[in-house]
Amino acid sequence: MAFITRFAPSPTGPLHLGHAYSAIFAHDMARAADGMFLLRIEDIDRGRCRPEWESQIYDDLGWLGLTWPLPVMRQSDRLADYSKALDRLWSRGLLYRCTCTRRDIETALSAPQEGAAPQFGPDGLIYPGSCRTAPIGQRTGEVLRLNMAAALENLTDLNFLETGSRHAGRIALTRESYLEGIGDIVIARRDMGTSYHLSVVLDDAAQGITHVVRGEDLFEATAIHVLLQRLLELPTPVYHHHALIRDDQGKRLAKRDDARALAKYRADGNSPADIRAMVGL
Ligand code: GLU
Ligand code: ZN
Repeated sequence: MAFITRFAPSPTGPLHLGHAYSAIFAHDMARAADGMFLLRIEDIDRGRCRPEWESQIYDDLGWLGLTWPLPVMRQSDRLADYSKALDRLWSRGLLYRCTCTRRDIETALSAPQEGAAPQFGPDGLIYPGSCRTAPIGQRTGEVLRLNMAAALENLTDLNFLETGSRHAGRIALTRESYLEGIGDIVIARRDMGTSYHLSVVLDDAAQGITHVVRGEDLFEATAIHVLLQRLLELPTPVYHHHALIRDDQGKRLAKRDDARALAKYRADGNSPADIRAMVGL
C-alpha cells in the first residue's frame, strides 16, 4: 500500500522539540513503509506568519537530516482552491454567515433558557446557532459557519481508521457527537478566506496524503476533517495520532515554548542524534 505522509508546521515561531518529534516520527514511518514524506507550510494566518520562521523551518528540518520533495506546498498559494470548495458548500446551502463576536456567543450560551452549561468542542465554545436563521447586522469577526444539521443530512459511514496506540481501531463517529460535541463550526474567516480545518482537508487530498501522522492534540479535530472529506467527496487517509512528548517533570511541552526551540539546542552544541535521543526516537 502506498504511504504518503506530511509534516505541516505553521511559520509562526521557532520549531521546538515537540515539532522535531512529530517530524522525525512521520519521516521514519514513511521510510519504514518505503513511502514518501512531504512538507507543507500552513501559513493562512497572515498576521502571525513570518518568512523568517519559514526559512528557519527548512533550516531546522534539514539539519535534523530530513528530506522532502520540492516544491513545498504553501497554503497561501492555495486560496483559489479554498474559495472553490467554499462555493460548493455554499451553493448546497450548508454554510451561513455569522457576525457574532465571542461576547455574543457567551451571552447567548449563558441565557437562562439555555439551561445547561456551555459545552466545548474541538474549536472551543459550541456555537449556539444564533445566526443560523436570522443574520444580524454587520459587525466584526464575520465568518462562515457550517450548518451541522444540514451537513449531516445525507451522510452515512462517518468513520476513520486510527493506528495510533491510544485510540487504535476503526473510529465510528455518531450524528449526536457532531451535533452536541462539535456544532456549527467556523469554516472560513473573512480575513483568511479559509480555516485550518478546510485547508488541511483540501491540502491532504491535493498532496495525495494516505497517512496523516500528527500529535494527539488534534485527535478531536479529526472528526471535523472526516466530515469535510465526505462533504467534498475526498478520500479519508489513515490517521496516526502520536503521544505528545513531555518534559522531565512529565509536563506536556507547550506549542509555544521558545526555551525548547531546536535552534537553541543547536546553538548549544547538540547534534541531530542528541535531539532524537532527547525525544525518545
Ligand atoms: N499546522 C498544524 C500545527 O502546526 C498541524 C496541522 C495538521 O497536522 O493537521 O499544529
Ligand atoms: Zn452568529
